[in-house]
Parts: sequence; structure tokens; C-alpha cells
Amino acid sequence: MFDVKKIREDFPILKREVNGKPLVYFDNAATSQTPQQVIDVIVDYYQNYNANIHRGVHALSQEATDKYEQARIKIQTHFNAAKAHEIIFTSGTTHSINIVANGFSSLIKKGDEIIVSAMEHHSNIVPWQMLCERTGAILKVIPMNQDGELLMNVYAELLSENTKLVFCNHISNALGTINPIEEIIEKAHAVGAAVLIDGAQAAPHVVADMQALDVDFYTVSAHKVCGPTGAGMLYGKEEWLNKLPPYQGGGEMIAEVTFEKTTYAPLPHKFEAGTPNICGGIAFGAALDYMNAIGFDNIAAYEHELLEYGTEKLLEIDGLKIYGTAANKTSVISFNLEGAHPYDIGSIVDKLGIAVRTGHHCAQPIMDFFKIPGTIRASFSFYNTKEEIDVLVAGVKRAKNMLL
Ligand SMILES: *Cc1c(COP(=O)(O)O)cnc(C)c1O
Repeated sequence: MFDVKKIREDFPILKREVNGKPLVYFDNAATSQTPQQVIDVIVDYYQNYNANIHRGVHALSQEATDKYEQARIKIQTHFNAAKAHEIIFTSGTTHSINIVANGFSSLIKKGDEIIVSAMEHHSNIVPWQMLCERTGAILKVIPMNQDGELLMNVYAELLSENTKLVFCNHISNALGTINPIEEIIEKAHAVGAAVLIDGAQAAPHVVADMQALDVDFYTVSAHKVCGPTGAGMLYGKEEWLNKLPPYQGGGEMIAEVTFEKTTYAPLPHKFEAGTPNICGGIAFGAALDYMNAIGFDNIAAYEHELLEYGTEKLLEIDGLKIYGTAANKTSVISFNLEGAHPYDIGSIVDKLGIAVRTGHHCAQPIMDFFKIPGTIRASFSFYNTKEEIDVLVAGVKRAKNMLL
């Protein structure tokens, strides 16, 4: 049974006050909060078995290595990857994307084409622009409509035998749109292109199945799924990970080093140079355990309720416009109030203890598309409530009275 009151007990931060008011945390698309169960795992690591992994024969090192590798298997199982070594531990989505973008420098040549969507996070735009600059490849963009849905017929026209790579987010962090990634992957594969799906915003809401999707690369940040910052994963198909050169050189990623030549370690270590975020990786696994215990179907159903309730209540405010009205979307509401700057609304509601994000949400091209400087973004998680949405609606009304 989904019991939000009981779930909220797991999150110590939700008990705190901000500016003398109970915290209403609606910035979940930027980072999620951490339950006590995951905090305990982090504390346990530093209190009981903090040691460097893979290298030591001593007991603590073995214990840390075992827990770290168990976490990799938890992540593999969660995302249904065929092999554990297809899961590369990274510091998060940005790091994961850069591993792939850098690796493709040697596989892409002048005139090759790379396709991205119009609603990407900057971290899924800039590395590809840098790749194009290095190689002379051409970047093409799948446009979207006013609802924030990709124009799939245009996508089909952009694809050709010159297309080498396609990049798209699974769910847009700025609009909440759930993109038709099955179709995107299938069509790209039909012309022989590889596909990277940025799953940073999807992982808190849906479980992506790597084998069913047949995706080539998929990226996740632990801090958006109730885990710590500085941890995440790059899923890559074995054949692709074997083709890509390593991203960083150093310890851990080598098989043999002489001054004449170094041979690289097998997967996954080839992409895991240096001492990783050991505690972060273990806590990432624990965070997925926590969310799976609640159940992603329960989470999705409840968040959909919050989305519908929030959308209805906010739209009752005169002059309020929601950006991102796709038929298929998650619990993100990006909005503006006619005549008011998003930053002013954000500052006023912050005084009331409400955490929302204001600005371009690392997706400036989306703001340019709608010809706005930014939006106010309220993003709901499974530990939020309808009462909290009422507090937000009252806060926006108050801001409106003050500003207009
Ligand atoms: C948060 C986010 C990112 C960036 O993730 P980091 O954890 O900052 O590396 C990329 N894409 C999307 C869609 C996101 O929501």
C-alpha cells in the first residue's frame, strides 16, 4: 500500500523549516532528497569498512570491493543490462555523456551527422558540439511543437546513412515530456546509427529496460533517484564499450604499463580510472533498493495524481501558463505568470519555505523556442503531497498580488 505519510518519515530533511515555514521541496528534477535508509548506508561505509577497492588483499578492502561490485549488480539488475560489466560507474550523467562523446572522436569523421533533440539538457548538447568541432561532424536537431513534443516525422527525414549518432533524453527535465525513445532507437538503428539516451530525468519515475530498448548507451545520476551526488552510471553495450577508447588514463584502468606501451583493463575497469566514489556507488545501489521497495508502479501512479492535481490547481490562477503540455509527461510543471519575471515569483515563494527552480533549467534552447527568459519549475516526487501543492498555489497567488 502506498502511504505517503509513512514514506515522508524516511526523509529527515522533510521535517525542517525554511524561513520559519515547513519546507515544501519541489525541486526534485534538480536533485532528490535522501531517505534515512540510504544515509545509514553512507554512514556505515565510513564507520565500518572505508578502504580502497580492487587493490588490497586486506579484509576492509575486500569488504568494500564486494559491496561496490554488489551495487553494480543491483544496478545491472534494475536496468536489465545483459552483463554487469556493461555498467560503468561514473560521477553522474554529465560524466557519462562525456565518456561517450570523447570516445567517438576517433570513430566520427568530417561530414558524419549527429542528431540531438530540441529539448536537451546542456549536458547532452555541449559535449556533442565539442565532438563536432573536433571532427567536422554536423549537428542536426529534431524540432518540437508548442506542447513540447518532438516532431517524429521530421526526425525520420533527418535520418540517413550519414547519421552516426542520435542523442535524446528519455524525459525532459524542463518540460516533463516523456519522449518516444523506442521509436527513436528503432529508427536510428535502421540506418546504422548508435543511440545514447539521457535517462537522468527518467530514472526517478520509470524503469528503463536496457535489453528491451536495445539502446546503445543510457545514463543516470544517483542524486536524482534518492542517492548521493557524485555517483551515477553509464550503461553501454559491450560491443560499443569495447570499441570506444578510454576517457581518462590512470590507475585501475590498465592491464599492464611499461614506458613503451600500456594495455587497458577489461570492462568495466577500462572506463573507471583512479579511485572511484566507492561509498557513492554503494549508496546508489541502496537508493535503487529503497525505490524498488516502494515500487516504481506505485511511484508513477501517485506522481501522476500529483501532476493532475497540481496542473488543475495552478491553472485556476488567472494569467498562469504552463510550458510542456505533452500528452505523455511526468510530474514536472514549468510555468510563468503573465507580467511577472520567474525569478521574482521564485524569490517570494522561497520566503514561504517553498523550493522551486527558476531559470532556464540548463535547457536554454527550450526557453528560446518559447521566447521566454525562463520558467518557474515545480517538480514533484513520490514523497510530496497535495497539501504541499496547495501551499504552492497559495504562494503563487500571494506573489501575484504583490507583483501585479
Ligand atoms: C540532471 C540532468 C542532467 C545532468 O545530470 P548531472 O547529475 O548534473 O550530471 C542531464 N540531463 C537531464 C535530462 C537531467 O535532468
